[in-house]
Amino acid sequence: MKRCIKSEYNIGIINLQVNNGAMSLLSPRLLKVLLLLVLAFIILQYSYTTIFEARRIDPLFIVNSSLLARNQFFFMKNRSNYAINKNSVSWTSDGAQMTNALLVDATASQNLASQQTYSSNELCPLIPPNLLGPIKPEKDAPATLEELEHELEAIGALPPSDGQWRPSYCKARDRVAIIIPYRDRAHHLNIFLKNIHPFLQRQQIDYGIFVIEQAGYGMFNRAMLMNVGFVEALKFREFDCFIFHDVDLLPEDDRNLYTCPDQPRHMSVAVDSMKYRLPYSDLFGGVSAMTKSQFELVNGFSNMYWGWGGEDDDMAARLKSVGLHISRYPNNIARYTMLSHRKEKANPKRFEILYSGRKRIKEDGLNSLQYRRLSLIRNRSLTWVLVELAVPS
Ligand code: UDP
Ligand code: MN
Repeated sequence: MKRCIKSEYNIGIINLQVNNGAMSLLSPRLLKVLLLLVLAFIILQYSYTTIFEARRIDPLFIVNSSLLARNQFFFMKNRSNYAINKNSVSWTSDGAQMTNALLVDATASQNLASQQTYSSNELCPLIPPNLLGPIKPEKDAPATLEELEHELEAIGALPPSDGQWRPSYCKARDRVAIIIPYRDRAHHLNIFLKNIHPFLQRQQIDYGIFVIEQAGYGMFNRAMLMNVGFVEALKFREFDCFIFHDVDLLPEDDRNLYTCPDQPRHMSVAVDSMKYRLPYSDLFGGVSAMTKSQFELVNGFSNMYWGWGGEDDDMAARLKSVGLHISRYPNNIARYTMLSHRKEKANPKRFEILYSGRKRIKEDGLNSLQYRRLSLIRNRSLTWVLVELAVPS
């Protein structure tokens, strides 16, 4: 009986056993070459998909990323101009540099920006020059708004009034209202404000922060508060871009620009509590950006979602129904830390309301919004609107 003789080959860490019959065809050298070819093919395929995905997600990203690469270089060269505390620079496990953005002296970056050649009448550069890239959000903040404002003032990041700020050294490209649905999360709000002001100022955005608080103890209605925020912010100025923002989400990379592109943008793509993975492709919750006209086109959010869940999927369906698409920055940029909180009770009727949602777009939304403004507080770090929402009978 003929025995089947096997030969062993050691290629790097791979140990191969080859039948004698195949030996003449597969010499060790040939195997190495084949393996290298397969590896090269995998790498090529991977890079192509990444670039293709980025293009599909947001065409501007291609421009952004190449310009950013140059700007990051510029930043590294001018590092000494920044008042960065050396201890604040740490390294993540994947080797990316993480900078604690709050320790960057905001005035230092403004000085640097004003040294550049543009004037206050000129549009700010397409890519803000003072971005840091990956940052480590601060997860702590003072207990009171007053103390927090002192801290922001000390780093030169406290807006002059109403939580509204714009760069003085160039004309910002977008006027952005940040709308935060809110009730009973004071500590999260202070942490959010502490992080978001220096973040948006580095992005050279003309912005306003609007906290919309639901009065009373009834079921929370996140979507209706967004609608209120839209209406209330427009009483202040003609904002052209709206970012609807959970109070507990802190951006981890300032290349995630808080602006409105051609298509609505879902911003919170990769959240730490979701293992930095997008759970499903139509997700539009957490943080999302829409232009004024896009929001009006879909009649805003539905007012019918009381309790947790459904309202963001309803908005995704509205966008689809008018031919808009959700755009996204790539996963390595649109990253967020979520502050911990207990899980809210989900609304058991959310699927039912969602199924019948399409039929209601025209009559349920901005045009049917009913609320009563109970108070308006204008602080330097935010505009705070307390509202009583009309509960349908
Ligand atoms: N929210 C709030 N108080 C509440 C419930 C919700 O301020 O009692 C706001 C807050 O901005 C929060 C957002 O609504 O980030 C979404 O709610 P939640 O964080 O509970 O949702 P989840 O993270 O579980 O999706
Ligand atoms: Mn949350």
